[in-house]
Amino acid sequence: MIARAVVRQLIESNLRRALERAEFALHYQPKLDLDSGTITGVEALLRWDHPEWGLVAPERVIHIAEECGLVVPLGRWVLREACAQAVRWRDSGVAPVSIAVNVSAMEFRNRDFFDHALAIFEATGADPACLQLELTESVLMRDVAASACLLAKSKAMGVEIAVDDFGTGYSSLSYLNKFPIDVLKIDQSFVRAIDGNASSNGAIVSAVIGMGRSLRQRVIAEGIENAAQLDFLKLHGCGEGQGYFFSRPIDAARMGTMLLARA
Ligand code: C2E
Ligand code: MG
Ligand code: MG
Repeated sequence: MIARAVVRQLIESNLRRALERAEFALHYQPKLDLDSGTITGVEALLRWDHPEWGLVAPERVIHIAEECGLVVPLGRWVLREACAQAVRWRDSGVAPVSIAVNVSAMEFRNRDFFDHALAIFEATGADPACLQLELTESVLMRDVAASACLLAKSKAMGVEIAVDDFGTGYSSLSYLNKFPIDVLKIDQSFVRAIDGNASSNGAIVSAVIGMGRSLRQRVIAEGIENAAQLDFLKLHGCGEGQGYFFSRPIDAARMGTMLLARA
């Protein structure tokens, strides 16, 4: 127990220091229109390059930050940085691009989430219409009434809402009608299953595409790694996709060059 407490304290103090010393960075992965191949937006992904430990996986960072109560300042840093980057890209001649930001459970449940987001838009000058919040089903469903209220306020400001890792979190679909959802992101595990030979392997993917179409929500397939997956998704009418097949997450400078080239 003592060893665990020491490790936890070590990570916690390193996280605090990382926030102060700006050791974090955001990398960006493009999302593409599968028919035209044009970039429809980018997803911001957290990177922590620790001076001694090297790259720390973002899921681990978020998990530890949630445990030691640092996830709110960390999430604020992510949102602020994404908004500041949107403005930097705009100023360097990049046409407006949607930036998706992942929001964890504790951040979303924080009472001041909306007010802080508003303050960040004002301070950075970023257009809320360029921002998309990615929330998982379990985050949305934890407190339905609070989520509905927060999503309505965000939507009124122009922010888009995406359900991340769709299909992995919650068994009830009734929430799809309750919340103002713009985008369903099909989880990578379903896209990976397309590779198999059995005809049922892509069944969930095609069902989600159909559902999104009926509900008038855009559908993005995550984790596209090869041409066979892309062909299947196109054949079944999936609108957008993201994955190593197109590009890995890259730093802001390289993403900016890619975005400039799209115009
Ligand atoms: P996510 O939001 O579902 O992000 C997609 C993850 O899949 C990213 O991993 C991305 O690099 C990876 N990925 C993209 N294309 C492919 C592909 O073709 N194949 C494979 N195998 N993987 C692909 P990453 O960057 O390690 O992030 C993992 C998770 O950590 C994210 O999943 C998200 O839940 C969380 N995360 C990342 N950045 C943030 C952040 O700023 N805030 C919060 N709250 N969570 C974050
Ligand atoms: Mg995401
Ligand atoms: Mg995902």
